[in-house]
Amino acid sequence: MKIYLDYAASTPVDERVLSKMLPYFTEQYGNPSSVHWYGQQAEAAVEQARSLVASLLNARADEVVFTSCGTESDNLALRGVAWAQRKRRGANHILISPVEHHAVLHTAQQLAEQGFEIEYLPVDESGMVDPDDVRSAIRPGTALVSAIYANNEIGTINPVGEIGKACREAGVPFHTDAVQAAAHLKMDVDADNVDLLSIGAHKFYGPKGVGALYVRQGTPIEAAQAGGKQENGLRAGTHNVPYIVGLAEAFRLAQSTLQERAQHHSALRDYLLGNVLENIPRARVTGHPSRRLPNHASFVFDNVDGNQLLMMLDIAGYACSSGSACKTGSPQPSEVLTAIGLARHWALGSLRVTTGRDSTPELIEQFSQVLAELIGRIRAASQ
Ligand SMILES: *Cc1c(COP(=O)(O)O)cnc(C)c1O
Repeated sequence: MKIYLDYAASTPVDERVLSKMLPYFTEQYGNPSSVHWYGQQAEAAVEQARSLVASLLNARADEVVFTSCGTESDNLALRGVAWAQRKRRGANHILISPVEHHAVLHTAQQLAEQGFEIEYLPVDESGMVDPDDVRSAIRPGTALVSAIYANNEIGTINPVGEIGKACREAGVPFHTDAVQAAAHLKMDVDADNVDLLSIGAHKFYGPKGVGALYVRQGTPIEAAQAGGKQENGLRAGTHNVPYIVGLAEAFRLAQSTLQERAQHHSALRDYLLGNVLENIPRARVTGHPSRRLPNHASFVFDNVDGNQLLMMLDIAGYACSSGSACKTGSPQPSEVLTAIGLARHWALGSLRVTTGRDSTPELIEQFSQVLAELIGRIRAASQ
């Protein structure tokens, strides 16, 4: 039997989402940019999806840009605002947290090669950004601040509203990567003082390969790819109509079931966090103990090879992660775990367990037993 405990890496497409998508592959296949009836039908579907996504973010429809994934949304936010700010104001200083997803971290590194100055905000040992640090790091040449909403690797939820407030007061655009957060937390771009916000459908039971970027009206931004005039000129390329329809429906379902899911998941999470600390020696929880995603448990184990642990768990039937799907297989400790101050012999033994709609208490109980046993075995073998 295979047990999936890696819902932060991806989720299955909900049947209700799939059935909304299907007609747009075969019957309503027009290009939304065409003038004829087929095009109009497709355009109506895209605009309906846009209004729905906007209402779920507490935004206006013309502030939603559809993209090909969460990664592209992050790229567009950083590149688009950085370039526009440099052109218009000569601003070239970018503030980001050091615990961002690679989609933000590596984009910032490329911008550094183009002459932007990237400054990393401090984070505490749970990976949290202090809004006062943002306030004091902002200067006249600051083009953009980017801080992750909820961390994919260690689950910590940032005080996004307060960070946004600090940026708003200084008149600096604020981007947040909400690709994990949008699956579990209420999104409200006004309450959170956010100017740009990234989401991706496959983290909330929608299809892979589609995302959206919220861009507050008036935010300086330019396109990151050239071509047609789609999406207000911000994202050239023919709309992926079925996937856009799927993203909107999946987001609606996610946002309308936040409370019951959070209750279900946080009970499993807290059981697992407690059980591991109680039964496995030299184990630590990474990320914030309580201000964390409801379905997210993450650990480090001293002197345990994390990749070996993942492989042994896989053989035992459990699909987990070391924190980020993009990093699996790498012998380097993750930047996130290094940024929160973990020594290498801890950071290399990391494990992320994220629950989903099929996870039950019995399953998590079995999993904790298997985990304790495997870690005991790995440690005994390396004595
Ligand atoms: C998954 C993820 C991304 C990338 O989204 P894709 O749609 O897979 O490209 C970006 N940021 C965070 C926090 C994520 O969890």
